[in-house]
Amino acid sequence: MAKRKRHTARPTGRPIVPAYTDVDIDAYTQMPDGRKLQKTVFGLTEEQVGRIKAGYVCIKCLEDHDAPFPDNCAVCSFPMRERQTEEFRKDFRGNIRFGPSTTIEEEYAIAEEKLQRDAYDRATKLGLILPKPSIVVPTVKGT
Ligand SMILES: [Zn+2]
Repeated sequence: MAKRKRHTARPTGRPIVPAYTDVDIDAYTQMPDGRKLQKTVFGLTEEQVGRIKAGYVCIKCLEDHDAPFPDNCAVCSFPMRERQTEEFRKDFRGNIRFGPSTTIEEEYAIAEEKLQRDAYDRATKLGLILPKPSIVVPTVKGT
């Protein structure tokens, strides 16, 4: 009987460092004693997600390996070959925003625009600015 081939891989020593981590508000792990443990979501780049999908990076501890889908993660022994794809399907959220839904620059731009609009509205009400006249294009009548 043929011996089952072992799939092994060694850590490359370059585990993925997520750009952001956050508490997952949509999912939690129910403990046997009833406690709810909140899960952590990792903010990853497209490339990092690609490495996980390709089986090089452990979905549990984000360790990077030199070969795809080893039987077990070299660091946390998560059964990557057997469960990584399934876990990925379950856990991957696609593109979600972390933190405030806009960047600081966007917040400033929005605030700035609102200030200008408010100022314009006030000035219009006070009669300081006349509402923009519509542009009339004179037409030549007849021939
Ligand atoms: Zn691992």
